[in-house]
Amino acid sequence: MSLADNYRRLIKDIPDGVKLIAVSKTKSPPEIMELYNCGQKAFGENKVQELLSKAEVMPDDIQWHMIGHLQSNKVRYIVPIVQMIHAVDSLKLLKTIEKEAKKTGHVVSCLLQIHIAEEDTKFGMSSEEVFQLLDNPAYQSMKHVKIKGLMGMATFTDDTDKVRSEFRFLKTLFEQVKKGYFAGDDDFCELSMGMTDDFAIAIEEGSTMVRIGSALFGERE
Ligand SMILES: *Cc1c(COP(=O)(O)O)cnc(C)c1O
Repeated sequence: MSLADNYRRLIKDIPDGVKLIAVSKTKSPPEIMELYNCGQKAFGENKVQELLSKAEVMPDDIQWHMIGHLQSNKVRYIVPIVQMIHAVDSLKLLKTIEKEAKKTGHVVSCLLQIHIAEEDTKFGMSSEEVFQLLDNPAYQSMKHVKIKGLMGMATFTDDTDKVRSEFRFLKTLFEQVKKGYFAGDDDFCELSMGMTDDFAIAIEEGSTMVRIGSALFGERE
């Protein structure tokens, strides 16, 4: 089956109102173009260098989403080209984004990554840390970052009840944060959760953005 066939089959399972981020890490520009030519514009990468080199040779209207852990010293390279940074996991990183975005006059859309999985290898903040960040005057004075929602990755497991409860926890936190800090702010509206193995559950639990790689492009090497 071609990538285009794959794509058309997959998007049938994604309702209106849920955005598909096609995770193109390790995939080549020609492969990405196959989906682009089907109308897909939002692509996700998890490494700065890879995102940059692809952005350089690919159409300007591609929306690049940085979905991976981001080091502060690489922020400045992606600020001018990235549509959204999904994995903001500290005030320190947010401060760097603010500083670099200020230099270039950008306002960068960000999601706060929440640690919802059992594995401690997965990055992200606790609920407590999120509230501390949002209460911090340093954050509150920022004008070049726009927090648009939350992101999380569930435990890698066959236990769908567990995955569901982790997504449900994230959705509940999203509602709490919205009520407490972004009431009336329609821009705080994104819940980035769900990958190839769990996106159906994530959508049932309120995801607005699914980040899907293997189901589109095939297994990565
Ligand atoms: C690789 C990756 C994905 C996509 O994973 P698949 O299982 O291939 O769909 C989603 N989110 C993040 C943060 C990733 O690094």
